[in-house]
Amino acid sequence: MITPRKHIRLPPLPTIRDLVKLYRIRALRQLSQNFLMDERITDNIVKAAGKLRDHHVCEIGPGPGGITRSIIKKQPKKLIVVEKDPRFLPTLELLQECCKDFTDFQIEIDDIRSYNFETGFKEAPKHDWFEAPPPVHLIGNLPFSVSTNLIIRFLQSISEKNSAWTFGRSSMTLTFQKEVGERMVAPIMDKQRCRLSVMCQLWCEVQYKFTIPGKAFVPKPDVDVAVMTLVPLKYPLVDLPFKMVEKVLRTIFNMRQKYCIRGIEKLFPEHLRTDLGVKLCKLADIETTTRPFQISNEEFVRILYAYKVICEDHPGLEQYDFRAAKIPLME
Ligand code: SAM
Repeated sequence: MITPRKHIRLPPLPTIRDLVKLYRIRALRQLSQNFLMDERITDNIVKAAGKLRDHHVCEIGPGPGGITRSIIKKQPKKLIVVEKDPRFLPTLELLQECCKDFTDFQIEIDDIRSYNFETGFKEAPKHDWFEAPPPVHLIGNLPFSVSTNLIIRFLQSISEKNSAWTFGRSSMTLTFQKEVGERMVAPIMDKQRCRLSVMCQLWCEVQYKFTIPGKAFVPKPDVDVAVMTLVPLKYPLVDLPFKMVEKVLRTIFNMRQKYCIRGIEKLFPEHLRTDLGVKLCKLADIETTTRPFQISNEEFVRILYAYKVICEDHPGLEQYDFRAAKIPLME
């Protein structure tokens, strides 16, 4: 049996640049493919994820395998790579072969949005939510359009403790467009504070780890990239249905520069707006003239619970969505 060493060297492999050339893989614009060729950067992304040795890892969108190599060097017990583009199969199979003695490397040609993490991680130990995070990690450098959408789905799964979070507080190390990363961590009063900031911070400890300059990618995107880590909070700040939280925050942040009462009123149908808007602010102990970016996470939590109390008093109100302009069943 081969005893794994702390730091391993992979057998000599062609560089990612050579592989891309060898297999004539041209980056596809429709999949927003931008590849990382610099091993120091991929090593740093993986370092941001923390300990991986003997852990269970899913890499989302490995492409030609730059980050994958850095993950393998940490000798996880299991590595699942989920890649939509089948052209990368040969380069991923090459990596699968070179780590077969110490890592169970599973290749899934699939869309991450339909991937079943519970099946993928079925051999991973389950930790109680209040224990330390389980040895389960998600790592990925995805196209921005996918990663922003995906983080909302992941937050929903965290709030419902399903998917990769049936195993406990599994951590994530993901890349985003730099501005999106800044929004995710934006505190109260910050000019970047928005719905995404509050959503992320209600359920996770979010860290902006470092910036990768756009020029490090091939082809070079127009923007810089943020490497973010998210670890679910032991005690999330809210325990309310995800869709309710999302709707309330979206409606309030829709009018980011206006007094919060303007957005809060929009949570209610026109004939109830004035009364219930003021009532909600009173219940939540929020000044009607505060602007959304001046509201702390704790104050948002009070707003959310006040909204819930009002909905309980008015059957059907919870279904009202200003955006969908739905007229609910109201007394
Ligand atoms: N990880 C590689 C790197 O850092 O060099 C590639 C990064 S590239 C920005 C994004 C990768 O995600 C591409 O390989 C692309 O094919 C893949 N991808 C895009 N959408 C995907 C999806 N919905 N599910 C799985 N993979 C996806």
